[in-house]
Amino acid sequence: MPKRLLPKILEEYCIGCGHCVLACPLGVLKIVNRKAKVVAPEKCDSEGRCIAACPQKAIPNLK
Ligand code: SF4
Repeated sequence: MPKRLLPKILEEYCIGCGHCVLACPLGVLKIVNRKAKVVAPEKCDSEGRCIAACPQKAIPNLK
């Protein structure tokens, strides 16, 4: 089974705006202590909606 690709979040760039959370219909991300966190990795479909939604470029890719 191929490895699932998950959002790589650069905390130093994240401002906790929540755009990535709103962009993900699967509930993979949540804001925890004002930073985006992957809270449901098993739900990620690796489509990268969060990457496109982030104004800070804090999610540069999936890994
Ligand atoms: S959209 Fe970007 S800056 Fe905003 S909470 Fe998500 S990762 Fe952080």
